Amino acid sequence: AKADGRNRWAIFDARRGAEQTLRYDLANQLPAALARQEFFLEYQPLVSLDDGSLRGAEALVRWRHPERGVLSPNLFIPTAEQSGNIVSLGRWVLREACEKAALWQSERADPAYVSVNVSARQCTEGDLVADVVDALKDTGLEPANLQLELTESAVMRSYDRPVEVLRRLAELGVRIVIDDFGIGYSNLAYLRNLPVHGLKLAGSFMAGIRTPEADVVGERIVESVVTLAHAVGISVTAEGVETADQAYRLAALGVDLGQGWHFGRPGRPDRIPVFERDGIHD
Ligand code: C2E
Ligand code: CA
Ligand code: CA
Repeated sequence: AKADGRNRWAIFDARRGAEQTLRYDLANQLPAALARQEFFLEYQPLVSLDDGSLRGAEALVRWRHPERGVLSPNLFIPTAEQSGNIVSLGRWVLREACEKAALWQSERADPAYVSVNVSARQCTEGDLVADVVDALKDTGLEPANLQLELTESAVMRSYDRPVEVLRRLAELGVRIVIDDFGIGYSNLAYLRNLPVHGLKLAGSFMAGIRTPEADVVGERIVESVVTLAHAVGISVTAEGVETADQAYRLAALGVDLGQGWHFGRPGRPDRIPVFERDGIHD
């Protein structure tokens, strides 16, 4: 049994080592892959919990790697953030997402916004404001139809400059939301001083909502986040909504929008109009 255990650790370590090597290789290949246009975006619907209508879609990047197939962002975004390549990749994502969203606007009667993930380094190193101005100008997308998702830690870690960047972005008229709210600083007080339109509850909250592990405390936490957010005029989106029960429960707790497999998996942009039929009433 002891030898078994040691073997398992050896395999585990080898796998970890292999994954580290893969991440490192991918980081080195990223600039060339960007030039060869190996990245593409999938979109996941953001749905109103009031009436099931489509309000927007989050752009999620994937890498069509010539040897390894389609790669998850979890394999290359963290290292791209470390190396600084996230600045150029992020610029491409922003441009591509605005282009697609401008197309939706021309096809839809009611506007849906596109929601783009932004890393801290895009705020501190790149000129995010100039990138956004250019993307909007070149694609003709209305500022109100662009939403930017920043993590709490990105906002908090380098506090001074991001706040200034957020102010300038808000002045442009783009929407700003705090991503993965609740796993970092979980402090609503600072939101009052930021030009933020909403926050996205991290998927980890969903474990407390209408699942086998559901608990009263988990629901109360969500409820109080909603109360506080609404008190300062901020909307709440729940991520990782996987079941109809969760969607109903979240709506009852006052959550404004839902995102997750229950409403639709991330998909190619031509599927976006179909998402309208996947409302919570199905
Ligand atoms: P995120 O911003 O929290 O995005 C949500 C993740 O949850 C996505 O993973 C999505 O596919 C997944 N998801 C959606 N619905 C469900 C559900 O019902 N259940 C569960 N278990 N998961 C669900 P994905 O696409 O693998 O992206 C992972 C992370 O990579 C994102 O997390 C985001 O932090 C990062 N990322 C993706 N695209 C970009 C990008 O363009 N720029 C930057 N900076 N980061 C990105
Ligand atoms: Ca996000
Ligand atoms: Ca998130």
